[in-house]
Amino acid sequence: MYDANPLIHHLRAATIGREAVVFATGPDVGTVSYADLFAGAERMAASLVSRGVLPGDRVAAQVDKSLTAIELYLGTVMAGAVFLPLNPAYTDTEVAYFIGDATPRVFVCDPARVDRLRTVAGEAALMTLDGHGNGSLADLAATQHGFDLVARDPSDLAAILYTSGTTGRSKGAMLSHENLYSNSLTLRDYWQFTSDDVLIHALPIFHTHGLFVATNVALLAGAQVVFLPGFDAEAILAAMPSSTALMGVPTFYTRLLADPRLTPELAANMRLFISGSAPLLVETHENWEERTGHRILERYGMTETNMSSSNPYDGDRIAGTVGQPLPGVEARVMKDDQAVQLGEIGVLEVRGPNVFQGYWQMPEKTAEELRPDGWFITGDLAKIDDKGYVTIVGREKDLVITGGFNVYPKEVESLIDDLPGVLESAVIGVPHPDFGEAVVAIVIPTGHDISSEAVSTALSDQLAKFKQPKHIEVMAALPRNTMGKVQKKALRETFAELFS
Ligand code: AMP
Repeated sequence: MYDANPLIHHLRAATIGREAVVFATGPDVGTVSYADLFAGAERMAASLVSRGVLPGDRVAAQVDKSLTAIELYLGTVMAGAVFLPLNPAYTDTEVAYFIGDATPRVFVCDPARVDRLRTVAGEAALMTLDGHGNGSLADLAATQHGFDLVARDPSDLAAILYTSGTTGRSKGAMLSHENLYSNSLTLRDYWQFTSDDVLIHALPIFHTHGLFVATNVALLAGAQVVFLPGFDAEAILAAMPSSTALMGVPTFYTRLLADPRLTPELAANMRLFISGSAPLLVETHENWEERTGHRILERYGMTETNMSSSNPYDGDRIAGTVGQPLPGVEARVMKDDQAVQLGEIGVLEVRGPNVFQGYWQMPEKTAEELRPDGWFITGDLAKIDDKGYVTIVGREKDLVITGGFNVYPKEVESLIDDLPGVLESAVIGVPHPDFGEAVVAIVIPTGHDISSEAVSTALSDQLAKFKQPKHIEVMAALPRNTMGKVQKKALRETFAELFS
């Protein structure tokens, strides 16, 4: 019966007949069997259908992380509908845009916000669910019994995830059943996940990393999951001795490194630490190995493509690179519509079953970024070495063009990061009357005093003049979003008037 619904078929297959249990903590303290999780998902599906959800309809959810929210995701797909998770941090105005754009049949929100969001819900049936799994949707689900899966084709949509929208309007990336299950199957095998694994899940579930990479891979392996409501160093360190894997963003690793309890003994049962969604500093990679004996496995992907490349499980995990294209995924680096020479920097393009179906109701945007022959233009600047390892150099739009010369922020950042007393840095371009743009470096010290002059002097004989920052600002921390990405747009705004 499950064959008819490809994603659910694959996600359930490994959990059937297994005693695999989801260990939950936080608001969901206790254990839940996979059989119960899927039974809950069926009740969700039945509830959604009772509220008029038809195949292809969108179900939007702006809810806190909980197992019930996972049931809502699975139930939506079971009902043949399209899951649309929204970051709980989005304001009412932002939510209004997503609801207006995606016109969901059902919109599930936090009970605390239901009165305010009623005005933006439009035609959608408004239901509630809080972080403890309570609300009108849970009440309705409690009255349901079983559900016959709605049949879908592999090319039918299972989810729409809005991109973070660093330039212009946020775009809804349409992901098919096949996009999701093919990528998760590849990752499960590539990273050797089995039912013996216990995965620490501390990522948000409104983003591709926590919802698809972590959740789908664990389900496909029939692995156990320590399901945490969010990042919590205390809970992660407590879970480590009885867990085998952690998936995190770089900030997870830097924060855990700050805790003296992180030792090789504590991590002795762990077999795999995975990082992605933002660049992992080489320094973090090295410090982690020193402190735990483990080399972090870094991978690369984006909302539109799921995961595209990964460092190997058995082979060389090279710090500062995002590894090789995953099996079935092709990657190339292009400049002016031509493939560059090996090792040269250009825009990374990827192709494979992982690549999305286009942007929701934005055919022009889709045509700009997804070529007719299936290559997706990622917008990331990258280079590929002779062994096929990909290095991400930054976003194309973060490239600084000063006096007609290209400056790749990563090149300058790497040199600054290597200086003693520097924790990390961000290099941006800001408007400059003479040069068009000027290179500006924001430097975060490790705690010791470090002056702009010292950084400037250290760089003077290492970089061509045009690459040297025209201004260096020492700050306490870089602005980051929940996924650990440095918000360069915010920095550009802060320093926009510097040279005017
Ligand atoms: P998102 O769609 O929110 O997942 O963001 C995707 C973007 O995050 C990519 O286009 C990259 O710019 C960045 N990204 C993801 N993983 C990595 C990584 N391992 N190293 C560097 N950048 C990354």
